[in-house]
Amino acid sequence: MMLGRSSDYELTCSMKFTDLKLKKPLLNALADIGIEAPTSIQEKVFSPIMSGRDVVGVAQTGTGKTFAYLLPSLNLWKFTKSPNPQILIIVPTRELVAQVVLEINKLSTYISLVAVGVYGGTNIRTQKAEVMKGLDVIVGTPGRLVDLMLDGVLKTKYIKRLIIDEVDEMLNLGFRTQLNLILDFLPAKRQNLMFSATLPGPVLDIITAFTDYYTKIEAAPSGAPLENIDQFVYEAPNFNTKANLLELLLDVDRDMHKVLVFVGTKKYADALFTRMETSIGEKVGIIHSSKSQNNRFAAVEGFDSGVVRVLIATDVIARGLDLSDISHVINFGLPDAPEQYIHRIGRTGRVERKGIAISFVAEDELENLEQIEQLMEMTIPRKIVPEELEISKELIELEKTVEFVPFNNHKMRTHKPTGAAFHEKSEKNNKVNVRVSHDDLMKKKYKKQFRKGKS
Ligand code: AMP
Repeated sequence: MMLGRSSDYELTCSMKFTDLKLKKPLLNALADIGIEAPTSIQEKVFSPIMSGRDVVGVAQTGTGKTFAYLLPSLNLWKFTKSPNPQILIIVPTRELVAQVVLEINKLSTYISLVAVGVYGGTNIRTQKAEVMKGLDVIVGTPGRLVDLMLDGVLKTKYIKRLIIDEVDEMLNLGFRTQLNLILDFLPAKRQNLMFSATLPGPVLDIITAFTDYYTKIEAAPSGAPLENIDQFVYEAPNFNTKANLLELLLDVDRDMHKVLVFVGTKKYADALFTRMETSIGEKVGIIHSSKSQNNRFAAVEGFDSGVVRVLIATDVIARGLDLSDISHVINFGLPDAPEQYIHRIGRTGRVERKGIAISFVAEDELENLEQIEQLMEMTIPRKIVPEELEISKELIELEKTVEFVPFNNHKMRTHKPTGAAFHEKSEKNNKVNVRVSHDDLMKKKYKKQFRKGKS
């Protein structure tokens, strides 16, 4: 079933890359990659960037935004003998650095261009040596870029083009100070290209610190649901029931071949990983910021190659990761900001492919669900949990302490055990179908009929 209202996500069928004024080496590289038609954002930003304007692109991961800024930037790039970079690309995570460098390398098969990626958490000396060998494009996370600039290793004098990707995520991660420091190092005369999934006031503040006058181009209106993603909700009262449900779905649904599971915190992610390891062993991987860089790369690689079927991730890490062919996104719990839901589900159904996003929602997350639905202007269909699902009453230690941060009220609430109206098991039968309690709950919640999905 296709959901949501019409948006701008579809490929621009009429236009081909050959219709853009791209240089032959780039066209050849695109032919090697095997893509012919630009996506909407790629087509829309091409001319403004080529004409030298500053551009702010409103686009989510999965819309082809990396090539959207790389193609015109590399098209404009000219070979020089200088060992110093002409293009600076700032991204929020180490994974994204690796990914953008990979995309540059794909596009520069027929150009003699050197791209280097730098990020924190690894030996700075090795990266300094790389930079000192000479390069054309530098891709980095803000902190490490500042260190290299302060050290004088990274010379910024010849930078003609600054690209900041995922500006909103930069802000979420607290990179404002580092961005301001970088700004001080940059030559005044340069082109600024900035991409963000959303443009709230604080993001605009950062953007306007870098540029006075820019062209804003949207791939899709902020908050628009992704068209090629089927979404639905299962209600499950607690961690153990959600884990039972995940195992059950994985057991019965062979189409779930590449499943990205979002979990709100590192501790919950660890708890779920431990639990899933006992049921599916090496088929589960985990990625979050406390894992070592090697573990993180290995988890992503395993997932990409298909060895790992289920990758458990926290939001910060997963943001921007280009994991191809994700069949299902599971929200093991709802994210702590409605926009984050859109980022999460955008990981499946990317560019031309169809994806499925399933949310496991407990009673105290219903308020969050309502806000997500308001943002997307749609009701996410509910599914009845499978009959065989074992509803657990047992809370894990983490659930007993703190939980639930409402979106607009960042006060922590201590845990209340879920009441009898929600998934209560009968004395006789421990396996319960949620149909009755769900309807009651929804009526109470919405005080009106709501649309239901087919189970
Ligand atoms: P991004 O939004 O940049 O993270 O890109 C998402 C995925 O789409 C990446 O795997 C790209 O290689 C792929 N992609 C980018 N442009 C196109 C295109 N024009 N046609 C098909 N796939 C594309």
